[in-house]
Amino acid sequence: MAVIINGKELAKKIKEQLKIECEELKKEGILPKLAVIMVGEDSASKIYVKNKSKSCDEIGIEFEEYILKEDITQQQLIDLIETLNNKKDIHGILLQSPIPKHLDINKAFEAISYKKDVDGFNPINIGKLSIGQDTFVSCTPYGIIKMFEEYNIDLEGKNVVIIGRSNIVGKPLIQCCLNKNATVTVCHSKTKNLKEFTKNADILIVAIGKSKYITSDMIKEKAVIIDVGINRGEDGKLTGDVDFENVEKKASYITPVPGGVGPMTVAMLMNNVIKAAKNIK
Ligand code: NAD
Repeated sequence: MAVIINGKELAKKIKEQLKIECEELKKEGILPKLAVIMVGEDSASKIYVKNKSKSCDEIGIEFEEYILKEDITQQQLIDLIETLNNKKDIHGILLQSPIPKHLDINKAFEAISYKKDVDGFNPINIGKLSIGQDTFVSCTPYGIIKMFEEYNIDLEGKNVVIIGRSNIVGKPLIQCCLNKNATVTVCHSKTKNLKEFTKNADILIVAIGKSKYITSDMIKEKAVIIDVGINRGEDGKLTGDVDFENVEKKASYITPVPGGVGPMTVAMLMNNVIKAAKNIK
């Protein structure tokens, strides 16, 4: 039976520490503030934004929401981002994805000042991460690294296999794991014989968005399994990308869904907002 990595508990612990740091900033006259931009009415995004707002409340971070109409132009979106870049009282800016297809999300991420880019998606911050400089690390990969640290899971010399190469999870994770001296392999939808790679993983990180795709025959005995996937079934229940029930019997450590990577992502966003507020000192 694997040790269950309790992301919910760890996130709570991190947020308690951030609350103290937030109070200290306030004593110095700095009121940490996050601005979140949402375009359109995506129902999943609304839930994610609500969770972020709730966490801000818990910590004492000010929260401002900008809800834009579905048919907004690229220029209008950039104009809003620039206005927020110039507002001294706003420390972090987050653009909730997805955004409508007629808008270029990468151009929007590029427009967010790298000093306020608490999601770590601005190309400057991505570049800094890739050369090991201090930066805003994107929240899901950062949360995963924090879980490794908390559970004393050493990455040095380990075979880490990441499945999924998205800009928000898979790609920044490559750098985060390299920075911890792991040997990193990345698999994706065009990878042939996926099982050959997964079977060789000391640490397997799965971010593909396919319910219970990773089965116990695909993993190595005593592997560490990190499940990033969030899949909502017809019954409304959340499942990960890993067949938790069976994989758990063979793994050494495993993250559950819900209660694993998800809460850590929000905690690390809060961490980045506090970091942005401290940076202006
Ligand atoms: P994405 O759709 O942008 O990317 C999916 C990746 O998986 C792609 O690189 C694709 O090549 C790969 N892939 C798809 N099918 C595959 C297969 N059969 N074999 C191998 N690779 C395959 O997704 P994303 O934004 O990275 O998100 C992935 C999952 O993680 C989703 O379920 C998403 O909801 C979840 N997610 C969770 C958090 C969190 O905080 N827990 C954060 C971000 C994303």
